[in-house]
Amino acid sequence: MNSSLNNPISIGNINGISPTSEWLKKYNINLTMQNNQCSNCNIHGMCPMCAGWNYKSEGAVNIRNTNICWIYRAGVLISSYYWNKMYIQNNINKRIPVLLNKEIALQIIPENELKLLMQLAK
Ligand code: SF4
Repeated sequence: MNSSLNNPISIGNINGISPTSEWLKKYNINLTMQNNQCSNCNIHGMCPMCAGWNYKSEGAVNIRNTNICWIYRAGVLISSYYWNKMYIQNNINKRIPVLLNKEIALQIIPENELKLLMQLAK
C-alpha cells in the first residue's frame, strides 16, 4: 500500500481542502473524478469520499475507494424508509424518493420490501 509519507502531496492548508485550490490545479487533481462504477451510480453526488483514504488505498486522491459502497447504498434505502414512515406518522406532506436503481436495490432487499419503500415514497 502506498503511503503519503513516501511521496508527500499537499492538497490544502490549515483552512482545509478546496476543490478549486491552486494546489489541486498544480497537481492536476480533480476531486470529482470517479471510477467507472461510480460514474454510472445515480447516488454518487451524495456518496461521501475521503481524498486521504483514496490516496492511501488507491495511490491517488482522485481514484475513489469503493469500500463504502454497499453499506452506503443500504443506508440510502434505510433513510427513505425511516423518513417516509416518520412523515406519514406525523402527517407531514413530504416524501424522500427511493434513489437507488431497482437492480441495485434488489441486491440488498427483496422485491416486496422494495415495493413497500416505493409506496411509502408516494
Ligand atoms: S454508492 Fe458505490 S458506486 Fe455509488 S458513488 Fe458511492 S462508492 Fe461509487
